[in-house]
Amino acid sequence: MQKQLSILGSTGSIGCNTLKIIEMFPDKFSVRALAARNNIPLLSEQIRKFNPDIVAVFNEELAEELTSALPADFNPEIVYGIEGYKKAAILESIDMVVTAVVGSAGLIPTLAAIDAGKNIALANKETLVMAGDIVMKMAAEKNVKILPIDSEHSAISQCLEGYRKTDLEKILLTASGGPFLNKSAEEFSLVKPEDALNHPTWAMGEKISIDSATLMNKGLEVIEAKFLFDVPHDMIKVVVHPQSVIHSMVSYIDGSVIAQMGIPDMKGAIAYALSYPERLPLKQPIPDFAELGSLTFENPDLEKFPCLDLAFQACSAGGTMPAVLNAANEIAVHAFLKCHISFDRIPVMIKKTMAQHTVINDASLDEIIEADEWARKFVENLVKSGR
Ligand code: MG
Repeated sequence: MQKQLSILGSTGSIGCNTLKIIEMFPDKFSVRALAARNNIPLLSEQIRKFNPDIVAVFNEELAEELTSALPADFNPEIVYGIEGYKKAAILESIDMVVTAVVGSAGLIPTLAAIDAGKNIALANKETLVMAGDIVMKMAAEKNVKILPIDSEHSAISQCLEGYRKTDLEKILLTASGGPFLNKSAEEFSLVKPEDALNHPTWAMGEKISIDSATLMNKGLEVIEAKFLFDVPHDMIKVVVHPQSVIHSMVSYIDGSVIAQMGIPDMKGAIAYALSYPERLPLKQPIPDFAELGSLTFENPDLEKFPCLDLAFQACSAGGTMPAVLNAANEIAVHAFLKCHISFDRIPVMIKKTMAQHTVINDASLDEIIEADEWARKFVENLVKSGR
């Protein structure tokens, strides 16, 4: 039977790769809903190709633009805004929702989808970073599977498959180290957005590319792993592995380490989530180990990359602190991309914001959103005042 899918964030890098896989296996998947922010040309192309029942965009103006961009014989229901995204996530016919929206915008539609009993292929890490306790609790109650699309978490779930959770000792989360692994910290004040957007091994969107350069991406992944695999933060260790061939590892109490490997291409993780527990014949090449010669590893430099350290701190503080870290980071990264602040100010601003926040434990969704909004304003003010 065909799996009926909703793709939230269909015009981004993960969304496009998801659609490529769906195109490869038309007998296995069908697209019932698409949601994007504002890339109308690409979205209308996707609608013509996949013919969904419902399509969501960011606002009314874009909805009108999309309606007029579509040929007369294509008339999906076009909705917009947060209510529109929710509608695209809970459509009756849908089995699984792929949440590949960038940033905190992913949280509300993902929660709506879980509440409606849809399985989730999760690429939006902010959903777990902001509200991991709420999301995982609701997923358990609704008997919903959360299948990670993030390559590291996909790797970890593959390494855990078939073993006893009680035998797990550590999760070894690998990091490519980003484009500035070998740059000295002194040069960080001079980094331009375009330097950070050139990732050596992974092709990604803008925000995640900056997060990868600061290692905040890895920090968010630590928090994501804590919730997804229900382990304390001190069971998670980050290992820098520049070749990105090992996508992550786990170790067991007997000292055995299981690694999941593959070429650095998101399609593997996406396909695994879409068709779990089945594997799809993707025809991906395996790594050429002889050509690679060696795989290298090192510890992350937390002084040079304070964002990773801040994420571990937020993870251990728990409650609303990860949401505050995430919100502060989103605003600081945005300010850097707009050239309003220098690259090395990103962690400084996040640290200042975290220092001013009093953690709320067992927070409600409203309290989390309030903390998120507070942190955004706080950083916006820091940026404006040039502090
Ligand atoms: Mg990742």
